[in-house]
Formats: sequence, C-alpha cells, structure tokens
Amino acid sequence: MSRIDRLALIGVGLINGSLALSLRQRGLVGEITGCARNDMTRARAVELGICDRAFADPADAVRDAQVVVLGVPPAACGPVAAQIREALPPDAVVTDVGSIKGQIVRDVVPRLRAPTRFVPGHPVAGTEHSGPDAAFAGLFDRRRVILTPIEDTDPEAVAGVRGMWEGIGALVDIMTPEHHDRVLAITSHLPHLIAYTIVGTVADLEDQARTEVFRYAAGGFTDFTRIAASDPTMWRDVFLNNREAVLEMLGRFTEDLVSLQRAIRWGEGDKLFDLFTRTRAIRRGVIQAGEAYRRLPSPAEADGKA
Ligand code: NAP
Repeated sequence: MSRIDRLALIGVGLINGSLALSLRQRGLVGEITGCARNDMTRARAVELGICDRAFADPADAVRDAQVVVLGVPPAACGPVAAQIREALPPDAVVTDVGSIKGQIVRDVVPRLRAPTRFVPGHPVAGTEHSGPDAAFAGLFDRRRVILTPIEDTDPEAVAGVRGMWEGIGALVDIMTPEHHDRVLAITSHLPHLIAYTIVGTVADLEDQARTEVFRYAAGGFTDFTRIAASDPTMWRDVFLNNREAVLEMLGRFTEDLVSLQRAIRWGEGDKLFDLFTRTRAIRRGVIQAGEAYRRLPSPAEADGKA
C-alpha cells in the first residue's frame, strides 16, 4: 500500500492503538494525530507512540488528515462524525473499526459531507483489554478484516483502506453491512452473550457455591470469564444495535438448548453422543482452517515487501 502521510485516530485504545503501532512498525505512516476525551488517555497515547499529538476535540485531530479511523464505541461513531463534519478535508477517507456495521452506516453516512469517502470496516481481532496500554503491534497480523462498503462508496477509497490493512498483514474480505451483522451475530455476539450469562449465573450463586466454582474452575469456565471480561460499553452497544440478528440467533440457540435439556431429562444418550461427535468434527475443521490460513503468505509477503 502507499504510505499514509497524515493519519487521524478518533479513539486511541486497543484497536486504533494497535493499528497505529503496526503501521509505524512497518514504516507505513507519517504523522498521527489522536483524539480521546480524557487527559490521561491522550497523554498515554503520546507516550506509547500511538500518536504524535492528541486532542480532546475530534475536529482538531482531523483537520489535515488524509485518512481518519473512528475507533470509539459503536454508539459514539455517529456523534463523532457530526463533530468532524466541518473540519474534515473534502478528499479525506474515513473508515471505522466498529464491531457492528448496519447501525454505524446508518449513523455515520448522513452526518458526513462526503459520504462516498466513508468505508465501514471491522477488524475481526481483539482482546478483552481496553485502552492505549492494551495496544500492540501485530494484533492484526494474518487476521481477517471485513470492509462493508455501500452502493455509493468510492472504489478508490475502498482500495486505500484495503491497502492500509493488507500493509500490516491482515486479509481483507468485502461484504454488505447486513451480511456482516448476521455472520458476526453467530460467530461473536452469541458466544459473548452466553459467556456473560454463565458468568452472571455463577456470580448470583450463594457465597459457598461461588467460592467452590472459583476454586475448581477448569478450562471451560475460565475461558468464559475471559470473554465475559470484555468491554461493557462496547458490548452493550453491540447487542442494542444488532438486535434483530442477535435475537434471531438467540432464538435458534434457545431451541437447541431446550432440545438438549429434553435429551438429558429422558436419558437420550445417543442424541447427546451424536451432537458431541458432530461438534468435535467442527472443532477439527476450525483448527485445520486456521492452520492452513497461517501457512499462507501475508499480502505484504506475497508482494515481497515483508
Ligand atoms: P477502547 O480500548 O476502549 O478504546 C476506545 C477509545 O476511544 C479510547 O481511547 C477512549 O478514550 C476513546 N473514546 C471513547 N469514546 C469517545 C468519544 N465519544 N470521543 C472520542 N474518543 C472516545 O476500545 P476498543 O476495544 O479499541 O474498541 C474501539 C472500537 O473497536 C469499538 O467500536 C469496537 O466495537 C471495535 N472493536 C473492538 C474489538 C475488541 O476486541 N475490543 C475488536 C474489533 C473491533 P477516552 O475514554 O479517554 O475518551
């Protein structure tokens, strides 16, 4: 990809911070301006080298930008778009990293003066940690990034954003915002909802039982607690703004859960065994697909630039 001379990051936490550090590591960016509401966040982002200058007002951060990345919680993207509207250079490309796409497109597009230069995006990579200190170079290496341009999105802007992600080793897929939200409802949103539920159920147990759960927590429960430690603001926004797709997947899941409940009640061992055998094969398929993907050259390696 071509180097970005002036990049503006609205939000300098885990995702935007990792993007900045990855671009810097590969020499693909010039000056980076950042924006966050709190003094401490801004100071830390500059100290860690995520941005060169940091502002409280997003308009100040984007004034000379070539590319702007919205890396704030999903519900903040629309209000931020309104705040940067007047200051944004007319040819700047705006993208975002939000975990839901339909609602962000509906919120951001009407607020920009050049909506065709907005390329909605979602890097499918992250951790349960937040803030600039959680950011690290390499987070997106060989991870998927989904771009969801709409009908009028400028193809040149899409190519620029694709190049930015491919430059740091990610593999870019393109789909509609609606398709993205349906796929992520099952692969990410539902698993998070289940983790929040299980950990919440344990939290509600009486003291004695809870202490024992913590003492004997095996891999399964510990894995759920990691997922359930994810950022509350972001996940509240995800569920409220991807309501239809999540409710549809939750409906299917609930039916399957009831059917398992019945199988256990009636001692239908064959039914349980068949399901667990099928799911074991799915796990093997997921691992094999991951290994095959890791063996592929990254886009930068394929270009001979890595
Ligand atoms: P994060 O670590 O909490 O960072 C959010 C940043 O935005 C912070 O710098 C925060 O600083 C700033 N901020 C919050 N509200 C703001 C506002 N109204 N105006 C200006 N700055 C604001 O969050 P993150 O995990 O990077 O998530 C950012 C986006 O990435 C979200 O849309 C999320 O859906 C998406 N995403 C997250 C993951 C993940 O695993 N975490 C994965 C993929 C995509 P102040 O609090 O100081 O303002």
